[in-house]
Amino acid sequence: MKFSDYRINEDIKFNLEQLGFKKPTDIQYKSIPAILRGEDVLAIAQTGTGKTAAFAIPIIHKIHSDKSSKRTDFIKCIVMVPTHELALQVNEVFEKIAEKTRVKTLCIFGGVEQDAQIKSLYKGIDIVIATPGRMFDLQHQGALDLSKIEILVLDEADHMLDLGFIKDIRDMQRFLPKNRQTLFFSATINEHIKKLAYSLVNNAIRIQISPKDPVSKNVQHAVAFIEMDDKRFFLERILKEHADKKVLVFVRTKVRAERVANAMSRAEIKTLTMHSDKEHKERLQVLEAFKKGKTKVLIATDINARGIDIPNVDFVVNYDLPDVAENYVHRVGRTGRGDQKGQAISFCSTEEKPTLKTIETFLTKPIHVIDIEKEDYLETVEFANDTILKEDLQSLLKEAEALEQKLKKKKKK
Ligand code: ADP
Ligand code: MG
Repeated sequence: MKFSDYRINEDIKFNLEQLGFKKPTDIQYKSIPAILRGEDVLAIAQTGTGKTAAFAIPIIHKIHSDKSSKRTDFIKCIVMVPTHELALQVNEVFEKIAEKTRVKTLCIFGGVEQDAQIKSLYKGIDIVIATPGRMFDLQHQGALDLSKIEILVLDEADHMLDLGFIKDIRDMQRFLPKNRQTLFFSATINEHIKKLAYSLVNNAIRIQISPKDPVSKNVQHAVAFIEMDDKRFFLERILKEHADKKVLVFVRTKVRAERVANAMSRAEIKTLTMHSDKEHKERLQVLEAFKKGKTKVLIATDINARGIDIPNVDFVVNYDLPDVAENYVHRVGRTGRGDQKGQAISFCSTEEKPTLKTIETFLTKPIHVIDIEKEDYLETVEFANDTILKEDLQSLLKEAEALEQKLKKKKKK
């Protein structure tokens, strides 16, 4: 079935064509009719399979074709997402699919002035895409009226329900109409979260699980056993051997992100970093530069493990294994999006082996191991060691110290 065969508004069809969307993906094929019928949906589908459009298309169609109400005087749909980057990205998808229709969307998130957002809310907005913190703030201030919401969407649903926002979400329910439609979308889910999701809806939920394996079929992923202190040499080698490739590197903490970036810089490899210590504006600039491929390597913490749709990421490197098992799926899912293929490699040190086990249990199967020959291992370390010897060790220590101080100061604030 093609989008042109769907009974949806012609402007929407035109916009989908412009986006190059001809056929619905599996999850779109399964979700769109159910959402159009008004059912509550819990949709689980692999990373990069077009979940955003799976809810955006039917929502925009429904709001656009509802002739019953005075249209612009209330918010009809709220989409909740975990980060402001994701809010902007989802908003962009909504805007593109809603172009030239009557549907107006707005994106709200914290870390920036709220006045402009409040002002925009008065302009008659149909769909709000929001991060929870700012959304609850504006709601408590009376600037965001959710009392007539027809559709509530939780994207990255398991994370949203797990973030400690469940109490807020339950409180919020009191302000939402009872007969609303509720949609949950994610690539991962567990029994506990499923129960929470059920507790938020009146009707039976339709569960779409397409395919069983949570790791995207477009991603080839493997693990290599590399000791903690040697990891940077292996990253250096990978980055030098694939200088033309776009690589997303995940590390455990923001301090490590900066350290790894500095180590790469000493090896004359240009990188960008992304973590929660960066201002909103800088985070956007970094993401933009990486998206456009101006800088080929981005070192990030888990704040960007979920949802972010960056074109043409060739490799994901888990420099550290993620502490939260499902983040493995989300991290490696930043590559191999849409029809593209991607590769992911994880560095696992001796002390991380229990974490690897937990991840494998979550995936219900072992991760393929890349055997590194002893000789190769030593060669990688030796080769990089030469460059490291040239460095001033003192400055290395100072740099680490300065970073710790900076973080301490920030914490005090
Ligand atoms: P998910 O939320 O499932 O991880 P996204 O909604 O971010 O995935 O979409 C992943 C990519 O697939 C995006 O770049 C999007 O433009 C593309 N895409 C979505 N639907 C289609 C479609 N029907 N045909 C072609 N590409 C699509
Ligand atoms: Mg998504």
